[in-house]
Amino acid sequence: MSHDDPNFDEQLRSAVHVAELPSLLPAVAYLTGDHTLLREDLRPGVHPTPLGLEPQGGLSSEQQELGRTLAMRALRDWHRAGRPAAPDYRPEDLRVLMEFVTGPVDTDYLSLFLGQLGVDVNGPDWTLEDVRPDREFRVVVIGAGMSGLAAAHRLDEAGVPFTVLERNADVGGVWLENDYPGCQLDTSNFCYSYSFAQHAGWRYQYSRRDSILEYFRDFAEAQSLRHHIRFGSEVSAARFDEDARIWRLTVRDTADGSVSTIEAHAVISAVGQLNRPAFPATPGLESFTGDAWHTARWNHDVDLNGKRVAVVGTGASSFQVVPEIAEAAEAVVLFQRTPPWIMPTPNYHAELAPGLRWLLREIPGYHRWFRFLQFWVGVEGRRRYALVDPAWDKPGSVSEDNHALRCALEEYLEREFADRPDLLAHVVPDYPPYAKRMLRDDGRWASTLKRDDVELVTESITAITPQGLVTANGSHHEVDVIIYGTGFRASEFLVPMDVVGRGGANLHDVWGGEARANVGVTVPGFPNFFLLYGPNTNLVVNGSIVLFSEAEVDYVMACLRTLFDADARTIDCRPEALERFYERVDAASAAMAFGVEGVHSWYKSSSGRVSQNWPLSTLEFWQRTRGPDPSEYVLDRTV
Ligand code: NAP
Repeated sequence: MSHDDPNFDEQLRSAVHVAELPSLLPAVAYLTGDHTLLREDLRPGVHPTPLGLEPQGGLSSEQQELGRTLAMRALRDWHRAGRPAAPDYRPEDLRVLMEFVTGPVDTDYLSLFLGQLGVDVNGPDWTLEDVRPDREFRVVVIGAGMSGLAAAHRLDEAGVPFTVLERNADVGGVWLENDYPGCQLDTSNFCYSYSFAQHAGWRYQYSRRDSILEYFRDFAEAQSLRHHIRFGSEVSAARFDEDARIWRLTVRDTADGSVSTIEAHAVISAVGQLNRPAFPATPGLESFTGDAWHTARWNHDVDLNGKRVAVVGTGASSFQVVPEIAEAAEAVVLFQRTPPWIMPTPNYHAELAPGLRWLLREIPGYHRWFRFLQFWVGVEGRRRYALVDPAWDKPGSVSEDNHALRCALEEYLEREFADRPDLLAHVVPDYPPYAKRMLRDDGRWASTLKRDDVELVTESITAITPQGLVTANGSHHEVDVIIYGTGFRASEFLVPMDVVGRGGANLHDVWGGEARANVGVTVPGFPNFFLLYGPNTNLVVNGSIVLFSEAEVDYVMACLRTLFDADARTIDCRPEALERFYERVDAASAAMAFGVEGVHSWYKSSSGRVSQNWPLSTLEFWQRTRGPDPSEYVLDRTV
């Protein structure tokens, strides 16, 4: 938009009315350099309530009016002055602006914050050429999903030669594989995107799958990563050769089945947690004569129009599928074993307001502050609702805060199903909020369950027959199609890859079904082998999974730097370090709602131990991933 565009003032006025002032005011102060906007009497209180953030930081309507007037005036002047670029800020100068949103915070948060504002202070400040110019070193990254691409980007920046092996034909990982109807984010995509590749053009707060996939494709393209990726290449084994101190990977070409070997000095596994479909062990599963598939392997050849469709499960995937397919199918029978808790989210399916999109597009840097506000609210914000109070004894909750959240969520369900007490009786969970994955909705779930052509079945499935499903009360539900929304084998990390480390130790034998890795990244006896989105790095109530993957990549890069600095051949975690890490992590998991006994979820291994989630603060993970503690690692310098 040119600076003499007469529409600017008008568009600005309507845009400013839909903006959240806690992000608009620092954004305008940042852009114009006019920090007088950040007045004490306009300082937002951004403390979350059980159901989220108070609108406009709790500012009164008079305060809001004043904030809008000041922001508009400053932006008009900026526009008339020819839209100059924001002044140069040193990282420490940004603190004042950030603390307008956050209030005074622990200094250790600042490097975390800067990244969220797009100041890329966390990338490698070294290259292999600088540190060890004569060193021959090659890394193999397994997987080109969200984590693998982040690793590829940082390796590329550091000039460390690498190859990415990806079994699919494209990048994107779960966002490529999951193309079921209704697939979309249920965390804000402003936070579910790399801090170092922020995007102002999102149309939704909770993007559709195609936009997320496009984001990862564009990122791979823009960073010229594609030529490093070997698509259609599935790693079946990785073996460490102790004499040569080399990893040898067995790679199957998915097109022709041929097998080859690739050597690497280090391996970064970025294979994810949620991509191996889990099917129920129900008798007769194979006997069904209709079409059947898993949500993550959608069969687009079958038209559901006029079909009777069974959907098994009410987790995040089915929750998005059912409202979509109910429109087409003749009837949907939904089999629910456990109801989900639902966070009311009025804008869950809505496009961002046009004014907001205008601001994101026209006001440079606004999207960073929009992200920053969401990030700050989410970073530790909801953790307190999931903490167990050992003295708390009310069933169905784990603390006073958790109980307050439970009451608010129950009220929402009671309102949504007020006209259908028969359904209400089945949709209120008996377990504490955050013991399982919380879902989001804007009323669509309730309206779908109330449809005449949707039946909610809560009897357990006892058998599958050639024609349908039988439940414990003996009912036989005849259907044409069965869709399994039954989740993933999340605790079986790296299965079916055969990973063999020092002394011929097989990773799966070492783990014995209980995957553990120091800082979620390294496993003793598996030198130069690093995991991304590994054990205990999944996020439930605080932070963003993208932030965690970025942090893990920082840690891997710092391990490599340590290796090069010492001119060592390998870096290997000490077993005592792993034990110490797990004393802390396991104790913390037991003190979180998702660790309580008696609630089954994909967060836990088959023994009931939480092996997927990070149970501590985001800040602690951030601090631990700034680099390896030298006392926790052995460097092998022998030539
Ligand atoms: P899930 O959360 O593991 O849900 C599986 C569902 O299947 C549960 O309702 C489970 O019931 C049910 N189930 C399993 N076996 C069953 C059986 N034998 N009989 C009846 N019901 C059975 O899997 P998901 O929905 O695919 O989601 C997995 C994770 O992927 C999510 O938690 C989320 O992290 C991620 N995801 C994210 C998004 C997003 O961002 N929008 C979308 C989809 C998935 P129980 O609860 O009783 O076990």
